[in-house]
Amino acid sequence: MDNTKLTAKFLEAIKPGVSAANFKTFFAKSELELVDDQQVVVFVPTAFAKATLLQRHLPLLEKTAQTLIDKKVAVEITVRPNLNQLPADEDLFAPQVSKSAFSLNPKYTLENFVVGPSNNVAYAAAQAVAQNPGTSYNPLFIYGGTGVGKTHLMLGIGNAISKKRVSNGVIYCSSEKFMNDYVSAIQNRKMIDLRARYRSAYILLIDDIQFFSGRDGTQEEFFHTFNDLQAKNSQMIITSDRPPGQIEKLEDRLRSRFAGGLMVDIQPPDFDTRVAILKAKCSQWGNALPEDTLKLIASSSQLSIRELEGKLLQILQTLKARNLTPAAENIASFLNTSVQKRPSLTYKEVFLSVCQYFNIKNSDLTGPRRQKELVLPRHLTMYIMSEELGMTVEKIGQLLGGRDHTTVMHARDKIRQLINKDREVQRMFIEVKQALSTLS
Ligand code: ADP
Ligand code: MG
Repeated sequence: MDNTKLTAKFLEAIKPGVSAANFKTFFAKSELELVDDQQVVVFVPTAFAKATLLQRHLPLLEKTAQTLIDKKVAVEITVRPNLNQLPADEDLFAPQVSKSAFSLNPKYTLENFVVGPSNNVAYAAAQAVAQNPGTSYNPLFIYGGTGVGKTHLMLGIGNAISKKRVSNGVIYCSSEKFMNDYVSAIQNRKMIDLRARYRSAYILLIDDIQFFSGRDGTQEEFFHTFNDLQAKNSQMIITSDRPPGQIEKLEDRLRSRFAGGLMVDIQPPDFDTRVAILKAKCSQWGNALPEDTLKLIASSSQLSIRELEGKLLQILQTLKARNLTPAAENIASFLNTSVQKRPSLTYKEVFLSVCQYFNIKNSDLTGPRRQKELVLPRHLTMYIMSEELGMTVEKIGQLLGGRDHTTVMHARDKIRQLINKDREVQRMFIEVKQALSTLS
């Protein structure tokens, strides 16, 4: 069976087992490739789809693949962004200029990392590590939400060190690559090579280690790599979207190793930092925008710098294509039209997305029950109806089972605060919004 056929069969088999919206969002754009009779790779367009598939649908994927191929196969999920999409994480890998698969993308440096209150502690730690690798802060564990600059900072350290010393001892690798290398080393009986490669590192950078969750073999191998490198005073830098204590299915011994180094977090950037980053990106790309327009853009996204950068890029391209001046009204109208791209977004769709995400019923949202599992989704719904749909608190209260408008106000303000403080809530908000944005 060729891969196109395999993909079609696979999707057909998956479809009845998941909701229509889930299917459309997470499966429809995936592609399958049979590597050999023991391994299937599922390519998905976004890191979000990958995370969701890993977290919630891996057993289904494995079962379906096994039925199709009539054999137990390992399923790997890999991001392969569409060409017309904005840069994804994978773009951080350098184009293969050198022979090494581990070369760092030189674009991300400590010098062009903009420092503000949200990231200054992490930045100071990064500088300390770059100056004295392997001594005091080992490992350096950087955590924070999506698109806040973890990978950039990590590569910045790697680049700073490889400038000073032999660069071939610096290994950057996504946790996914480590996992894949481990799996294929087992299959091809190349464990010795794998160990030799990773343990030769003078600096080891492992990105997004939360994906090690539940991978017992990988964790075991990494534990030994870790000990070996630490004994040699080789510096390790690890990033994650959450602190080790919150990574599920992570061995305690790894957790305590990570806690034995320095743990720093990066918060979503405040307004001034966002403006400063936009300014820096403009000048890097050889463009300039007036301060007031940068401020307009900065106020349009709060959480992710990646998202902000994407908007900036689109705006610059649109201005150029339509030959417009970067006047505030042009930018504002662009930001508005890009917000209003989905005029059909209704409160019912918000209900639908929230219910699917939390796996609850519509009547749970609108009903009187006050369990914790229902209250948070309900409050998040209120927040989204207010912030994204611009509905009045009175109307929101009415649609959510006749609740008082002061309740709605209270809930909205609480969620607004939590989104800035609490990573779990932040993630839920981002994911529900992503799910919403895929509804058409
Ligand atoms: P994460 O790994 O946390 O998801 P990235 O490191 O990939 O985020 O950052 C996303 C984008 O935002 C990158 O293009 C990066 O250069 C940019 N970025 C993030 N933080 C900063 C910063 N402090 N200064 C300059 N650019 C930044
Ligand atoms: Mg990253």
